[in-house]
Amino acid sequence: MQYVSTRAGAPELGFEDVIITGLAADGGLYVPKTWPEFSKEKWRSMRGKTYAEIAFEVMEPFVEGAMPGDTFKKMIDDAYASFSHRAVVPLTQLDANQWLLELYHGPTLAFKDVAMQLLARLMDWALERADRSASIVAATSGDTGGAAIEAFKNSQRTKVFVLHPHERVSSVQRRQMTTTGSDRVFNIALEGNFDDCQDLVKAMFAHETFRTEQNLAGVNSINWARIMAQTVYYATSAIALGAPDRSVSFTVPTGNFGDIFAGYVVKQMGLPIDQLVIATNSNDILDRTLKTGRYEITGVEATTSPSMDIQVSSNFERLLFDVSNRNGNEVVRMMSGLKQSGAFEIAAEPLAILRKTFTSGRTDEDAVKNIIADTLKTSGKLIDPHTAVAYSVARQTASESPMITLSTAHPAKFPDAVQAASGIHPQLPPHMADLFDRTEKFEVLPNDLTAVEGFISKCQ
Ligand SMILES: *Cc1c(COP(=O)(O)O)cnc(C)c1O
Repeated sequence: MQYVSTRAGAPELGFEDVIITGLAADGGLYVPKTWPEFSKEKWRSMRGKTYAEIAFEVMEPFVEGAMPGDTFKKMIDDAYASFSHRAVVPLTQLDANQWLLELYHGPTLAFKDVAMQLLARLMDWALERADRSASIVAATSGDTGGAAIEAFKNSQRTKVFVLHPHERVSSVQRRQMTTTGSDRVFNIALEGNFDDCQDLVKAMFAHETFRTEQNLAGVNSINWARIMAQTVYYATSAIALGAPDRSVSFTVPTGNFGDIFAGYVVKQMGLPIDQLVIATNSNDILDRTLKTGRYEITGVEATTSPSMDIQVSSNFERLLFDVSNRNGNEVVRMMSGLKQSGAFEIAAEPLAILRKTFTSGRTDEDAVKNIIADTLKTSGKLIDPHTAVAYSVARQTASESPMITLSTAHPAKFPDAVQAASGIHPQLPPHMADLFDRTEKFEVLPNDLTAVEGFISKCQ
């Protein structure tokens, strides 16, 4: 498979280069040149298979030509052996038509592990082949950083630098990142919000000399492999509920639009998905965009679902590219508008296409609290605030097909918010029981490119 940039100004690349490159040289994101399409029989043949088996079949077309099938199979097996549930991502029923897909049984208790565990193995493979090393630079709203640090902990070819917004992540999230004791892991607490962290990471990638000198590699969801790995659980859960002979719908707690974009990809591959519902907290730029056709940045508000406290959803660009007839110049127009005036309009035709597949809703803090309490009462299930944002939207969405809400984090990652809503203090699993006794290490830095680049160079 070959990959093209969403901004029409970077070279086509193969899978291996896409993994290492992350952000395209023109500032765009890489997407597959064409969407692979599976027949109904092919989807049907996946029934009864394991997560790892389905993962191989769904992802194979994206990797094709880059590595032998057996190598890829082994990576997948290793990646998902790190999960504590035998189903990897169990599906539970909450109500007549409501289902919960638990994506948080990986080592750092958030869905980011699903993709990161595989990406780390892919990255190591690609670096090995290129005989080079890399500085992984990642921005995190809380969960990506921990997942990346855990996934890359055995990698000999990488150092990991993570930027998180200072005092805006939960203490469990922060401690997961800052207590590793590893001399190849560096945490930067940035005096700013997540968007500032993400902007700095993009600026470092755009800074050609720095990027080359430091061998930068990216593991944010700008990296295609993240999206690719997330397509798999849409397939396993839909198949479990009767696809391809029955349609299903998904509601996804959304921040950077990576997770829900993976659902869109599987739909392009022929899996019958009815609705993809974007759920946001009060940082509702995507909900407003769907309703008005205008993408407009306002301020970021801190909520109990910090991993969704985002204004600029990077992966939305991949969708804009696809619904704009894959016209990179049109994407450049929209992204220039965003850069210059903090807003752009989506043209009528792409907007109509977008609205055929996606709907949206937002949830405020009171509703999050209520739904955590109510879900515990009616189904005995304790959910985290991100899942609660989505489940609240899912319940307000009329759906004839089964509605699957993606449950993106373990409640113990957000103990204070969960306790305030439910009265229960969720316990961390045994492998993290001493998290609050470990020594932390992080550097507080100003929101300034020179300061951050200086710190990274110094750590080499
Ligand atoms: C990252 C994250 C999200 C948002 O996912 P995107 O792919 O950025 O839209 C939602 N919930 C949790 C717990 C997360 O860590």
